[in-house]
Amino acid sequence: MTPGTVYLVGAGPGDPGLLTLRAAQLIARADVILYDRLAPAEALAGARPDAELLYVGKQGGGEQVAQESTNRVLLEHARAGRTVVRLKGGDPFVFGRGGEEALLCAEAGIPFEVVPGVTAGIAAPAYAGIPVTHRELASGVAFVTGHEDPAKPGSALDWPALATFPGTLVFYMGVRALPQIAEQLVRGGRAPDEPVAVVERGTLPGQRTLLATLADVAERAVTARIRAPAVTLVGPVAALGEQLAWLERRPLHGRTIAVTRARPQASALAARLRELGAEVVEAPAIRTEPIAAKLPELARYDLICVTSPNGAHALFELLGGAGLDARELAGRMVAAIGPGTARALASHGIRADLVPERAVAEGLVDALADVRVERALVVRAREGRELLPEALRARGAEVDVLALYETVAEPLDEQTARAAAGADYVTFTSASTVRFFLAAAGALDGPRIVSIGPATSAALRDAGLEPDLEADPHTPEGLVAALLADAA
Ligand code: SAH
Repeated sequence: MTPGTVYLVGAGPGDPGLLTLRAAQLIARADVILYDRLAPAEALAGARPDAELLYVGKQGGGEQVAQESTNRVLLEHARAGRTVVRLKGGDPFVFGRGGEEALLCAEAGIPFEVVPGVTAGIAAPAYAGIPVTHRELASGVAFVTGHEDPAKPGSALDWPALATFPGTLVFYMGVRALPQIAEQLVRGGRAPDEPVAVVERGTLPGQRTLLATLADVAERAVTARIRAPAVTLVGPVAALGEQLAWLERRPLHGRTIAVTRARPQASALAARLRELGAEVVEAPAIRTEPIAAKLPELARYDLICVTSPNGAHALFELLGGAGLDARELAGRMVAAIGPGTARALASHGIRADLVPERAVAEGLVDALADVRVERALVVRAREGRELLPEALRARGAEVDVLALYETVAEPLDEQTARAAAGADYVTFTSASTVRFFLAAAGALDGPRIVSIGPATSAALRDAGLEPDLEADPHTPEGLVAALLADAA
C-alpha cells in the first residue's frame, strides 16, 4: 500500500479570510483532517462531506499523551493510503509542534508537505495596528515562547539577551507568565516605560488590545481580564497601536448579532455585518422548499407581481423546466416588491417595471394605484399575505396566486440557539423567521430585537416581543443602517 501524503497546514490565526489558497485546496481534498483547538472552525467548512474530521486539541490526560496519540493517528491514516491534512492554528512551524510531526513522518518514511500559515505573532498585532518592524523603531523581531516560567532555574531563555535584543519581542503563550516576563526584561535593562501591547483573540471578532508598559502590563492585564490566546509585544512599535488601531474601531466591533433568515439569503447580510466588525451568529430558522406547480399561460396576464427573490428564482426554474425563458414575460408589466426581488429578476434578464419605494405589500398596492389591471398573477410563497391579491381584486382585477415555494422550519441546534439568545441583537427579516425562531429557541430576553419592517414587527408583537429597532427602508440595507445607528 502506498502511503498517503501528510500535509502540515497552517490555518492562520482565526479570521477565516487569512486561510491561504493552498490550505483551502488541501482541506477540500483531504480524506482525514486532524485539527487543533486554535484552527478556525470556518476552515473546516470546506472539507468534503465524507472527510473524517478529528479533533486532536489538547485536553485532559496531559500534553505528552495527547501528542503521542496524535502522532499515532496521523501515521495510521497515512499508512492506510489516505490524504491527511494536519491543520494547525497560525503557522505549523511556529510553536505548533509542526517540526516534530514532520520529523515523525520523515522517520516513518511517510511523504509530507508543509503549508505555511499566517502566524498569530504577526497577524494579531497587524489587526491591532502594530507593525512588528518599523523603520527607526524596530529593525528586528523575535518570536519567543512565554510558556516557560522565566523564574525557574534552567530556563531555556536567555533573559539578559532578550532584554537587550535590538527589536520587537513577540511572546506567544505568555498570558500567565506576564508578571515574570516583564520583571525579567526590566531586570535585564529594558526601560520600565517600554511600550507593551497584549492582543487577545487577534483577528477574531472579539479581538481586544491592551496598550501598556513593562511597569504596569501585568497589573493591567489582570484588571482587563486578558485571557489566552493572546500575544504580547514588547518594543516601541507597540505604542503605534494608539494611532493605527483599525479593527477595533469598526462600527459594530464587539457586537454579536444573530441572523435568523434562511441560509442562502443570510450569507450576504452576515458578510456585510462582519465587514462592519460584528460577530455574527448564523441561526437560520427557516428554509424554503419548492412546491410543484403548473406553469400558467403568462400571456393571459397584464400584470405579474413577484413578492420575493425566492419567488423570482422559482418562477424562472418553472419556465426553464418548460423549456422557456424570459421572453414569456414579454409585454407583461412586471412588478417587484422591493430592490432584492428586482435584482433577482434582473439576474434572469427582466428589468422590473415597478419597484415601490416601501418594500412591503402595502407599498406595492400604493404603487399600483394608477395602473389599470385586468388580470394579475401574484408569484409568492404558499403562506404569503393576502393583502396584495385582495387589494387588486377590490379594484376589479381578476387575480391568480401562483405559490411556488413554502417556508418550513429549519432545525436549530441547541448550541446555535444558545449563541443567538446570548447575542446583543437578534435580527428578524420576515414573519416566518419570527414564528419559527421562537418556536425553536423559546423566549428571548436580553438581546435587542431588530425587525425589518411592519409585517415582521406585527409577528413579533403577536409573540409578545416588542421590537427595539425597525428598519426603514424595510430592506436588509435598512436593517444594517438601523443597527449602525443603534450601536453608534
Ligand atoms: N502556530 C501558532 C502558534 C501556536 S502556540 C501560530 O503560528 O500562530 C499558541 C499561541 O499562539 C497562543 O498561546 C497565543 O499566544 C498565540 N495565538 C494563537 N492564536 C492567536 C490569536 N488569534 N490571537 C492572539 N494570539 C494567538
